[in-house]
Amino acid sequence: MLERTLSIIKPDAVKAKNAGKIIEMLESNGFSIIGMKKIHLTKEQAKKFYIVHKDRPFYDSLTDFMSEGPIIVMVLEKDNAIEDYRKLMGATNPEDAEEGTIRKLFGTNIERNAVHGSDSKESASYEIGFFFNELELV
Ligand code: UDP
Ligand code: MG
Repeated sequence: MLERTLSIIKPDAVKAKNAGKIIEMLESNGFSIIGMKKIHLTKEQAKKFYIVHKDRPFYDSLTDFMSEGPIIVMVLEKDNAIEDYRKLMGATNPEDAEEGTIRKLFGTNIERNAVHGSDSKESASYEIGFFFNELELV
């Protein structure tokens, strides 16, 4: 079934100029980019985006990281996009990610892991709505 998911190229990967290589991987794996923007989140915006993790020990450090520099946010569309993009990203910790995945190739550690991807239909819907309105999606 055609699905949409939210992808973020995180500040580490944007700063390292890996965005082009990551976008190339998305397109060559069948994802269509139907919305895209480059923005610099405030700490407060990063905290709101990651509100599901508010009680986790890494919440403060994660939201510092996500607001330290610009990110590239995309809405991706494909059959089975949510699960397929999670597979292409690889495990949260790049050390555990499979060869050839985005996090294995471009991640540094469990926090600075290059990319974000929605983990369910519910989170995709919340996360897409957080960054885009319908008029911005083609
Ligand atoms: N994270 C972290 N330490 C951890 C787990 C996660 O810094 O022990 C960061 C990491 O950047 C991760 C994000 O918090 O991508 C969200 O965590 P989640 O468990 O949702 O992982 P994901 O869905 O991104 O694989
Ligand atoms: Mg997650």
